[in-house]
Amino acid sequence: ATVEEYLAAIEAKKHLNAFVEVYADEARARAKELDASTAPKGKLHGVVIGIKDVICHKGHKVTAASKILEGFTAVFSATAVERLLAEGAIIIGRLNCDEFAMGSTNENSVYGKVLNAADETRISGGSSGGSAVAVQAGLCMASLGSDTGGSVRQPADFCGIVGLKPTYGRISRYGLIAYASSFDQIGIFSQNIPDAALLLEVIAGPDEYDSTVSLKPVPQYSKELKKEQKSYKIAYFPEALNHESLDPEIGAAIKNKLEEWQTQGHTVAPVTFDLLDYIVPAYYILTTAEAASNLSRYDGVKYGYRHPVQNDADLDIFYKNNRSAGFGWEVKRRIMLGNFVLSSGYYDAYFTQAQKVRKLLTNKLTLIFNDFDFICMPTAPSVAFKIGEKMTDPISMYIADIYTVMANLTGVPGIALPLFQHSRYHMPFGLQLMSSHFNELPLLSFSHNIL
Ligand code: GLN
Repeated sequence: ATVEEYLAAIEAKKHLNAFVEVYADEARARAKELDASTAPKGKLHGVVIGIKDVICHKGHKVTAASKILEGFTAVFSATAVERLLAEGAIIIGRLNCDEFAMGSTNENSVYGKVLNAADETRISGGSSGGSAVAVQAGLCMASLGSDTGGSVRQPADFCGIVGLKPTYGRISRYGLIAYASSFDQIGIFSQNIPDAALLLEVIAGPDEYDSTVSLKPVPQYSKELKKEQKSYKIAYFPEALNHESLDPEIGAAIKNKLEEWQTQGHTVAPVTFDLLDYIVPAYYILTTAEAASNLSRYDGVKYGYRHPVQNDADLDIFYKNNRSAGFGWEVKRRIMLGNFVLSSGYYDAYFTQAQKVRKLLTNKLTLIFNDFDFICMPTAPSVAFKIGEKMTDPISMYIADIYTVMANLTGVPGIALPLFQHSRYHMPFGLQLMSSHFNELPLLSFSHNIL
């Protein structure tokens, strides 16, 4: 589709609230410029992409869907954005999300909720809800989100599209507004696997501005995607597929798929997994701790929102006014939780314990990946919730991250694949595959075969 067609679609689907800002004139001008250019065409020549409002794009506003960054304009571009532009992509706008990427429904946004295009009485998922719906509703060809504990895979699952969270350290986080730095990774939303492969190959790889990016060479995923049938070894956790929180139809669909793979010649085997009940608590302890520290920079002094009533005589009150009015409830809850688990009296009981869980889990996954190519799991325990359904019950909202946080706790890549339709709710859902670190290529190849 052309820029004009996407702009018309964005206008027609405005009520979904996926975009918080559309760069209509800029996108038109860039399309013209690309058309007129005689330079060799980039890999993404004219490809229309949207980016989540946590990714910096020089000269454009970026707010992490928070009042505290109201009016802030990015002074540099994220490495991922630079690389998209260098290959000829057209960035069409900034996409809605949960405030500082904290949430699972996109209801914690200063811009309001995003509607799921498959059923507008349901949420998009989150935190990258705008990024998911923009691709779902055909408002751009692909989009970038961020995934700290499932924020790309879960909304992709809820919207019936592909969501890829690469290995931690595959894509530079330079210019990505931090939530929990040792978990955060930029991820990709697309309609199909070749698009995801192409975007990944463009944005991945070493970056002098982020020392946590691996120096491993980046495969030409889009060219090396293999269509031919290879037999893979796939592990699954019976505990995950029989979990009490899982919608039985989702469990049954995945079990059927596993059987189908087995009859196709893949090796499919159960692996005992006894850490399931520990991973969500460990995730929320560690991420809130990192978030409390990362978000301490938003004090109203350097950038963003400043409360109109100021008491110049007392710096503490000045900070308190700015932060009290600037942050939303979910972010405040997490800052408090994070400071609590890091406080001297409780550090060992919470933070240290959670780190141990993270280590145990990493060791467990290493062992599994010695014997298997992939782990197959649900992406989410249910289809997209109804608007407001979980807003009053944060714990049940957190528990719903049970299947996605594992990949971020351990750093392995995960992909959500849209394969099914729920017979009762008429909503899409799929399954999730994870591979060992930096094995995105087999992950994408197998995904390509089954999608
Ligand atoms: N729902 C998870 C959370 O609220 C995941 C968020 C994310 O991946 N950014 O922390």
